[in-house]
Amino acid sequence: MTDDAGEGDSGSAEPTSYDLVIRGGRVIDRGGGLSGEFDVGVVGDRIASVGADLAIGSASEIVDASGCIVVPGLVDLHTHIFPGGTFWGVDPEPVAWRTGVTTFVDAGSTGAFSADAFLRHCADRASPRVYAFLNISTIGLVAETGESRREELCDAKLAAATIAAHRDFFVGVKCRLDRRAVGDMGLLPLHRAIEAADETALPVMVHIGAGPPEIDEVLSLLRPGDLLTHCATGQSMALVDGEDRIRPSVTAARERGVLFDVGHGSGAFSFRVAEAMLAAGVLPDVISSDLHQRSILGPAFDLPTCLSKFLALGMSLEDVLAAATVNPARAISRNGLGRLGVGGCADISVFEVEKGDVAFFDTELAERRADRLLVSRATIVAGKQLPPVPPAPPARWIETTSRQDALLSEQRRSAEMRRPWVSRLGAAGDYVSYK
Ligand SMILES: [Zn+2]
Repeated sequence: MTDDAGEGDSGSAEPTSYDLVIRGGRVIDRGGGLSGEFDVGVVGDRIASVGADLAIGSASEIVDASGCIVVPGLVDLHTHIFPGGTFWGVDPEPVAWRTGVTTFVDAGSTGAFSADAFLRHCADRASPRVYAFLNISTIGLVAETGESRREELCDAKLAAATIAAHRDFFVGVKCRLDRRAVGDMGLLPLHRAIEAADETALPVMVHIGAGPPEIDEVLSLLRPGDLLTHCATGQSMALVDGEDRIRPSVTAARERGVLFDVGHGSGAFSFRVAEAMLAAGVLPDVISSDLHQRSILGPAFDLPTCLSKFLALGMSLEDVLAAATVNPARAISRNGLGRLGVGGCADISVFEVEKGDVAFFDTELAERRADRLLVSRATIVAGKQLPPVPPAPPARWIETTSRQDALLSEQRRSAEMRRPWVSRLGAAGDYVSYK
């Protein structure tokens, strides 16, 4: 589904019948300014009413959300969803139904050369919603990395023309800046990405990792509305100095309106850095998974797991949910998404906040324990609840890291994370052991 989502209008009278009602949950919707126990009534692909005790007698379908939270469909701002065309890509359909993610934003899997193929691939799929940042490198992420090591591959004019041809689909320009991605090119790929973004009036999303380049020089180039992803990386471009103090360049960028996105991934999330950020009051604007062939095997697993980690670090449930709904929707100027407005698109997620002793790991395998886990109970895209879809096995070139092996060999932990959705797959749940 690649169509744009309208904002809708509010104030229409309550309809006499609904196609779907989500009943009795606690609605948390910062974008729509809603908080409290409400029913949500859907007609067609739109939200028709939000209110206490809707007249639901003739509803065709009722989702009982008592004891659950009801939130706008999650927007995962950093994913890789071009399987069959790239090293990293995973199919979003087996993920969406069990995670509450109704919009997947691909972060630079495709460059200009494969953009048409990626669009055709997405158009063949009914759900969920998809958008993409175009990689400044024309070859995108066909291979694991190294896409910006040659100057002629970083083509700003072609990137801008490709975006102009698919304006509804592309929401920005992606640039991966680390030693392996850029080689000797330094900041040239970023300069080209900004040139393409300027020409199309869109943001850039910049990935950081093990430099060079240096983090201070990268941040100094970012403009208001640009996104820095992997903001809690523990690698050399980390936002904190050797003593875990926030760098002055981070504070300056934030004041300028640069947005910070988590992009957990398989090597880019450090509890130590995330804790230093939160302690300094630097909350991530967006929490995303960087879902791909490796991160899906853990310890990122999926967006609800990433969100639960920030609950474990002490962020409020409301802040955490805003960072995966209204904030990412605004970052890509899709203001009809990430909120539950009457007349707006009916993308809705139902979660249970499960209580219990849970262990979380970062990508360096540091452990934190917590007493809450967000577990998806229903995912509704454009008014339709997504049915269970079993996961695909990993691509044949994917080898887990030694840290992932250590994690996955902890059978108890692995089973604990997957139990809520494996049980809903029935026999197909047998697929889910990767090792
Ligand atoms: Zn990524």
